[in-house]
Amino acid sequence: MICTGCSCLCDDIVIRDGKIFHACRKGVKHLRAEKATPSINSKPVSIEEALKAAGKIVKNANNLVIFGLDTIPCEAQEKAIELAEAKNAVIDDCSSFCLGDFVELILKKKVPTATLDEVRDKAYVILYWGSNPHQSLPRHMSRFTYYPRSGKRQRGYEEDRYLAVVDVRMSETAKLAKKGGRFVMGNDLDVIDSFFKAMEGKAGKHPEVAAILKEMQKADFNVIFGGLGLRYGLKGDYSRFVELIEKLNEISRVVFIPAGFHANMRGFNELMFKKTGFINAYDFSSGERITFGEAVKHADTALVIGSDPVKSLPPYIAARLAEINTVVVNPSQSLTARIAKVVIPTSISGVGQGGTMVRSDGLTVELEPFEESVSDAEVIISLLEVV
Ligand code: SF4
Repeated sequence: MICTGCSCLCDDIVIRDGKIFHACRKGVKHLRAEKATPSINSKPVSIEEALKAAGKIVKNANNLVIFGLDTIPCEAQEKAIELAEAKNAVIDDCSSFCLGDFVELILKKKVPTATLDEVRDKAYVILYWGSNPHQSLPRHMSRFTYYPRSGKRQRGYEEDRYLAVVDVRMSETAKLAKKGGRFVMGNDLDVIDSFFKAMEGKAGKHPEVAAILKEMQKADFNVIFGGLGLRYGLKGDYSRFVELIEKLNEISRVVFIPAGFHANMRGFNELMFKKTGFINAYDFSSGERITFGEAVKHADTALVIGSDPVKSLPPYIAARLAEINTVVVNPSQSLTARIAKVVIPTSISGVGQGGTMVRSDGLTVELEPFEESVSDAEVIISLLEVV
C-alpha cells in the first residue's frame, strides 16, 4: 500500500497481521492515528446525524471558508473546489503557509524540475536548502536522493553522491552534510549572493559555496530541494533565486524540487491552478486571492477537511474557529475537532479510501485502499447535494 503520511507517498508499505512494515515512525503514527468520533457540539452521534447537521450549517452559511484538503485524494479535492464555487466561498490549503509558492514556480515553468526517480538514478549533488528531510520527509534520502544505489549512481553515497545543506541551524541533515559534504549556515540571500560571486571567481560572505559549485561541475545532473526555511528566507521575492538556478544551469543541469509538505498538497495546487489560475487562497465570490488566515476573520462558517489548523496555525485562527460554525471532516481526533460544532470522521487516504494523489515531484500516484469506509469525496458530495 501507499503511505500518505507525507509527500514521499512511499509505495512499499506492507500491513500484515496488524503490523506495519517499511514505514517510518511518522508513517506508522499517521496510519495508526486514533479515529475521530462523529459528534455535534462534542456529543457523540451517528455519522448520519453528523452529516445532516453539517449539511444544514454549510447550506445556511453566508460566508464560508473551506480549508485543509492536502491529505485527501484529488477526486475529493475536486469536489471541495466545486462546493466552494457553488457557495461563492473562499478555499485554501496549507500551501499558502507552506511551499505553494515553490509549486507555483514549477507550474509556471520558471524553474527546471525533474522527478524523484530521475534524482535517484542520476543526481550527484543533492542540495537541501532550508529543508531538514530527517524530520519532514523521513524516507526522502533513503528512497530517492542520497543513499540509493541506482541507475548511474551505483556506488552510493560513499562515492556517487555529494550532500550539501544550506540552513540557518545545525539540523540532523546539516550534520550529515558537514561530515561528508558541505554545510553552509547563513542568511539565504547572502548565500545566493555568494554563489553568484563564486561563479565570477570572487569570494562572497560564504566562500565555502565554491566547493558546492566545483562538485556540481563534475556531474551532468544535480538537484536543489527547497524547504520552508528557504521559502520564508526569501520573503516572497523569488527572482534572485530563480536567477541563480538559471545561472547554475550554465555550468551543469540543476533542477529544483520543493521538499517537505503534506501528501497531496501539489494535487490541490494543480487542480486550483487549472480551475482558477491561482494555486491556492481563492475567493470564488470576488475572483481574488485571499488566504485562509485572512478569510477566517470575516467568515461565519469554516469547513476544515483533512487538516488541524488549531495545532499548526497562529492562535488567533484557533480562537476564531471556536467562535464561528466550524465543521471538521478528518480521520483522526484533532485539536480542531475538539472545538468544532460538528465532526465527521472519514477514512485515512490509502487505507479506507482510494483515488489519486500527486507526489511532490508531480508524479500521479494511485492509492489502493484495503478496507471500505467513509471517504472524503462521499462527505463532500453529500454537502454539495444539500447546497
Ligand atoms: S516517508 Fe512519508 S510517505 Fe514514507 S513512510 Fe514516512 S511518512 Fe509515510
